[in-house]
Amino acid sequence: MGQLFADIIIDISHEALDRVFEYRVPFSLSGQIAPGCRVCVPFGQGNRETEGYVVALKTEPEYAPEKIKEILSVVADSVSVESQLIKVADFLRKRYGSSMIQALRTVLPVKKKVRHKEEEWISLCLENAQAEELLANWEKRHWSARSRLLTMLLKEKTISAQDALKQCKVARKDLKKLEEQGVLCFAAKQKKDFVPDPSKIPVLNPEQKNVVEHFLEDYDRGERKTYLLYGVTGSGKTEVYLNLLEHILKEGKTGIVLIPEISLTFQTVRRFRERFGERIALLHSRMSGGERTQAIERIASGEADVVIGPRSALFAPLKNLGIIIMDEEHDGAYKSDTTPKYHARETAIYRAKLAGASVVLGSATPSVESYSRALSGEYVLLTLKKRAGDARLPLVETVDLREEFKEGNRSMFSRRLREEINRCLARKEQIMLFLNRRGFAGFVSCRSCGHVIKCPHCDVSLTYHRNGSLRCHYCGFETQYIRQCPVCKSPHVAAFGLGTEKVEAAIKKEFPEAGVLRMDMDTTRKKHSHEEILSAFSRKEADILLGTQMIVKGHDYANVTLVGILAADMSLHGPDYRSGERTFQLLCQAAGRAGRGEKEGKVIIQTYNPEHYALQAAAHHSYEEFYREEYAYRRLMGYPPCAHFLVILIQSGDESQAVLAAGRIQKMIEKSQEKEEDRVLILNPGQAVIAKMRDVYRQVIYVRHESEQRLLSLRERLEPVLASHPVFAGIQVQYDLDPMNFM
Ligand code: ADP
Ligand code: ZN
Ligand code: ZN
Repeated sequence: MGQLFADIIIDISHEALDRVFEYRVPFSLSGQIAPGCRVCVPFGQGNRETEGYVVALKTEPEYAPEKIKEILSVVADSVSVESQLIKVADFLRKRYGSSMIQALRTVLPVKKKVRHKEEEWISLCLENAQAEELLANWEKRHWSARSRLLTMLLKEKTISAQDALKQCKVARKDLKKLEEQGVLCFAAKQKKDFVPDPSKIPVLNPEQKNVVEHFLEDYDRGERKTYLLYGVTGSGKTEVYLNLLEHILKEGKTGIVLIPEISLTFQTVRRFRERFGERIALLHSRMSGGERTQAIERIASGEADVVIGPRSALFAPLKNLGIIIMDEEHDGAYKSDTTPKYHARETAIYRAKLAGASVVLGSATPSVESYSRALSGEYVLLTLKKRAGDARLPLVETVDLREEFKEGNRSMFSRRLREEINRCLARKEQIMLFLNRRGFAGFVSCRSCGHVIKCPHCDVSLTYHRNGSLRCHYCGFETQYIRQCPVCKSPHVAAFGLGTEKVEAAIKKEFPEAGVLRMDMDTTRKKHSHEEILSAFSRKEADILLGTQMIVKGHDYANVTLVGILAADMSLHGPDYRSGERTFQLLCQAAGRAGRGEKEGKVIIQTYNPEHYALQAAAHHSYEEFYREEYAYRRLMGYPPCAHFLVILIQSGDESQAVLAAGRIQKMIEKSQEKEEDRVLILNPGQAVIAKMRDVYRQVIYVRHESEQRLLSLRERLEPVLASHPVFAGIQVQYDLDPMNFM
């Protein structure tokens, strides 16, 4: 092995990540040094011994080798959280393709240098009797501020200095005086012992108990595995998570709970709060920089030992990690859409391995990837087949919209759905109407020639809004509604498909007595609007909740007895191979909202494709039926998980440059494997699904192979060439592995 050099960062803060220093790896240490290692190096003008972290190794230094100093030693404690997170960054870089800086920025917490006031706590240092005597004395003298303070301290024992100053109106200098007199002392805050309300803790049913015991047996034997908890909607998965966490926290370990999207799962978060109180730290993107810094500090100091949040919460700087729980593991939100385009599932499993933690993936509709791994034994399969408590799964009916049309029904409500809505309204029960718009945009097209109106900058169809405008969802471009087809001049231009606003108007017309709440992108722009709409619905302020996929996640409404899916086909014909899976998941989740209480639930699915296996399986509540069909299809077509895709996205402001570069890359790949037997398949290099975005042209190359490893090593060879070869100057290249959506 030749001479190795290491990139080292000294100041591991977000702002300083690109200040990387090169050091020589002495031969005596060469076997011990890897990304994530903490090392001692001479630093600065005085060559002071300083600690730093290795972030990368290389054989070619950028500086003159004779000027490069040598690493002094490896610091024994290399299992710090920082070390682990740097190793995770290295994993992201290698697996998903990015620079090390991009990967480090993804995993290391932003430490905003906000001047953040340290919270001060004061506690009573006298015996109660003494304090009461003193209080009587002060009251006699009418020292009201001091008396208020002492009363508060007698009651609470420990209060924040802020409260003392504000609520008791004591002066700061008096606090100091009282400290000198031994009445009170300034104290570090103690971890509050939070006792959950026992009436809110259900006794586990036998199925749940089984699952918990299986996990704990492994855990207590020191076995760390990845589990797939497959439990139908309402089977009590969350209750299982809470139990597992409880056990792990008792052993002094910590846990991460991942949820797809915070604003849609506040009820889940609330249940964790009710059980673990102040030990919980939330991390999410709608937090301010200050809130985030505060949360990170509570995590780093050990005050919070459970972290809940979306995929990036995976990088919470928790020490002693014992478990990572990933709720709704099938959700597309777990895949990052910025480089490195990591998937939280694989990354969680990697971090857990480093930390000696277990991973629990939970879902009512597991991803095809996870379920196939569970069947092959790579994950341990745990199942909950029944709904918890007494609730039963709802009855599902499909309605063929073609028949409705033949019978002359031009309304968006089939006769069956209308009947059921009226029945529900009469019984004062609630209804959820669901429009699965994921992967669909309400475009405007010409009924004569089929021309679709597109954004001039982005090559995606424009979406029709009721105020009469057409809008681009990518770049915000807006234009007036077009009344004449620009191609054939026909006046029959119309919006295709359904939008929530249109449905709302129809509901108001057909069911004028019903109160309606609408939940979609437009009504949920503000910070707490999701929560407001959902709580209003749970307070029964409306009879009907109409919404997009936002309404299908994890809410429990005992009074909802009817769920209507207005156009199941909308998500069935998306531009990628996951459309069937996505439709099945959405339908199951939507159906899972009905009949959560004691009353029986009913689901009506309206569709032009009642025979499609995703709809059939959803109607039968049969994940297994869906999985069998879906897996056979993936196998036949060579789609994940039966094969893997490496995606290379080539971007340039100049269209011909992008096309040229794509052609060159294709040739390079072909040439590189001339001698290899195990050849990759290169699919159609060509325009990306969005061929142009913000005036940048996008070409895409899909490379397919059964072995992920084969694709990773191909990318590793391409990466340095595409990044530095002059013929690729001005071309921006991004990579992805098994994308959630076609690019
Ligand atoms: P999931 O996460 O699988 O959808 P939840 O954990 O939300 O299921 O449970 C569904 C409902 O059943 C919740 O209202 C929950 O409080 C209740 N529940 C869960 N476990 C039990 C149990 N063992 N006994 C009674 N009710 C339970
Ligand atoms: Zn036309
Ligand atoms: Zn646009």
